Amino acid sequence: MEYKSTCCYCGTGCGVIVRKDKMGKLTVEGDPDHPVNRGMLCSKGMNLHYTVMDKSDRLFYPEMRFNKNMPRQRVSWDDAMERTAAVFRTLIDKYGPDSVAFYASGQCLTEEYYVINKLIKGFIGSNNIDTNSRLCMSSAVVGYKMSLGEDSVPVCYDDIELSDCIYVTGANPAWCHPIIWRRVEAHKAANPHVKIIVADPRRTQTCAIADVHLQINPGTDVILNHALGRLLIEQGDINADFVKNHTEGYEVYRESVMRRSIQEAAELCGIEEEELRKAAAHIGDAKGFLTMWTMGLNQSVIGVNKNLSLINLNLITGHIGKPGSGPFSLTGQPNAMGGREVGGLSNLLPAHRDLLNPVHREEVQKFWGGTQISPKPGLTATEMFSALNEGKLKAVWIICTNPLISLPDVRIAEEALKKAKFVVVQDISNRVETLKYADVVFPAAAWTEKEGTMTNAERRISYLHKLTEAPGEALPDAEIICRFARKMGYKGFDYKNAEEIYLEHCALTKGTHIDIHGLNYTILKEKTVQWPLTSVNETKGKGLFTDKKFYTATQKAVIHTVPDENQSELPDADFPLILTTGRIRDQWHTRSKTGKVNKLNQHIAEAFLEIHPDDAVLRGIEDGNLVDVTTRRGQVRVQAKFSEDIKRGVVFLPMHWGKVLNSDLNRANNLTNNLVDPKSKEPDFKFCAVQVEKYQKI
Ligand code: SF4
Repeated sequence: MEYKSTCCYCGTGCGVIVRKDKMGKLTVEGDPDHPVNRGMLCSKGMNLHYTVMDKSDRLFYPEMRFNKNMPRQRVSWDDAMERTAAVFRTLIDKYGPDSVAFYASGQCLTEEYYVINKLIKGFIGSNNIDTNSRLCMSSAVVGYKMSLGEDSVPVCYDDIELSDCIYVTGANPAWCHPIIWRRVEAHKAANPHVKIIVADPRRTQTCAIADVHLQINPGTDVILNHALGRLLIEQGDINADFVKNHTEGYEVYRESVMRRSIQEAAELCGIEEEELRKAAAHIGDAKGFLTMWTMGLNQSVIGVNKNLSLINLNLITGHIGKPGSGPFSLTGQPNAMGGREVGGLSNLLPAHRDLLNPVHREEVQKFWGGTQISPKPGLTATEMFSALNEGKLKAVWIICTNPLISLPDVRIAEEALKKAKFVVVQDISNRVETLKYADVVFPAAAWTEKEGTMTNAERRISYLHKLTEAPGEALPDAEIICRFARKMGYKGFDYKNAEEIYLEHCALTKGTHIDIHGLNYTILKEKTVQWPLTSVNETKGKGLFTDKKFYTATQKAVIHTVPDENQSELPDADFPLILTTGRIRDQWHTRSKTGKVNKLNQHIAEAFLEIHPDDAVLRGIEDGNLVDVTTRRGQVRVQAKFSEDIKRGVVFLPMHWGKVLNSDLNRANNLTNNLVDPKSKEPDFKFCAVQVEKYQKI
């Protein structure tokens, strides 16, 4: 038996062919006909089948405990649902709808996202739903909305082959979006005139093909982008017609970027002025200019400002709305884009509608037929856990995410789950740390065990077949949520199958910029499609804004002038180094899937601290020594790994590890802090002040 599916790791959205033999054994290979990956897969994709074949860590049955001092025991689905509904009803009656919350994931399928969002916003009457996309994409969402009028990625992968300058900043796609990067590598190899500019405090694998590597000091991204803006103005590389007719805000921007000299900007960024000028010349020469970014820009206390300063470079040069050009935020998770389509964050409504717009709220409320949608934005990811600590939030339902490794300053989340009156965990794996605090556990079906859809970073929707049965009594996430909603007595959750949910989602997009009404599984089983569509199954055109009409009230894009100062926790005498956290090639998030695949663990088996030899020698540290890394919040103890590829004064720690042998001393988020961007509420994972010392055994 053979089915087409989509990789469930990163937002690249590679097509895979999954085969099942007579013994039920699965194998995967890249789909040669898929427009994204054309048969290629990265190491994670090639080992996808192990995540569902190996059932040693799976949750098989619902579990429940009757009080916090008792162990959980296996119960029936009905008992677990009955109890959960009873607790939710009691809390909502006593403390109001904002006393409960759902914390979900960019790995949920669109149908799952849709029903969770509908349940809490449309029926419970609270907007307390957020997902781990808050930790990943929310700064880009705000950046797009502020500059282009809506959260719409204007470009697609085919623009790679049409560009002649690609500026990658705050991203390491060679490791984190490998198949996108292979397309870039192939494009450059075939067209030597194509220029690659990379801005990153680390000389990552992405830099291997860079014509210019701007090894900036962490937190200086806005200064860098402003300096590039100034040089483009001075070089005469501004598209005056485009700026005049299709943008607002240029004059104020021009004045602002002219205030800092290029020499001063280069000094603050810690780079050579000549490199800066070289990068600006490449951008100025480009006929097709793509900007690409991920977490280095998004995961910052000034994440929105970083996004806006970058998008401005596309706007002032007019490199948007035409082939090979545009600002391209690479989504981290496989269905972060689908989640954004259904409005699956605490401040969004379906189909890019605005929660603060009363007309939009009424449209959605009428469509769902439930309760009035609250105008009050819900709690974001970090706010939820702070609210649990403060007693304002009483219950949290965690779906397909592992906050005890992934949230910043993780002590806050740990304390919150201890204090919560009621915690529900819905997951596939018994490896997630949150289980320790769960009052109710719902076992979920995994990839290949359920059907549904996902949307990748370039707005491409794919259908995922169900190929295998879920183990034990595990159920698809959407089914779990609908059973709960029915138990609560809510109407509108009696779908016959996943497609009925999808059709409802599509119908709700009618008349919006992401209108996909009429799309269905029959079409998606045949091919992937990218919104917007001209008819039910035809993509309108790959890029957005080709008519130069943006989604703002004036139809003009907005060039925002933003301050360039970093607001992070700055180094001082006690904590003199800057910590930046991030991914490695073969692990995914908190390793609940990749951690059980031997082949992937062979790449890098444990957490490490990347440190420049000069910083290490100053501290008497040798390569491979155990080191204690400390901040005002906590400690990590890992091996030092020398590298001259990292800037002096900066250290890097991967974010994937949690508890190993009952020790949590390899968990990066023991160290990070709870600062968030004021607009996007995305945490500052890429910058905090640390000290590093050689571990002294007492
Ligand atoms: Fe999967 Fe991303 Fe690798 Fe493609 S690049 S195979 S989507 S992990």
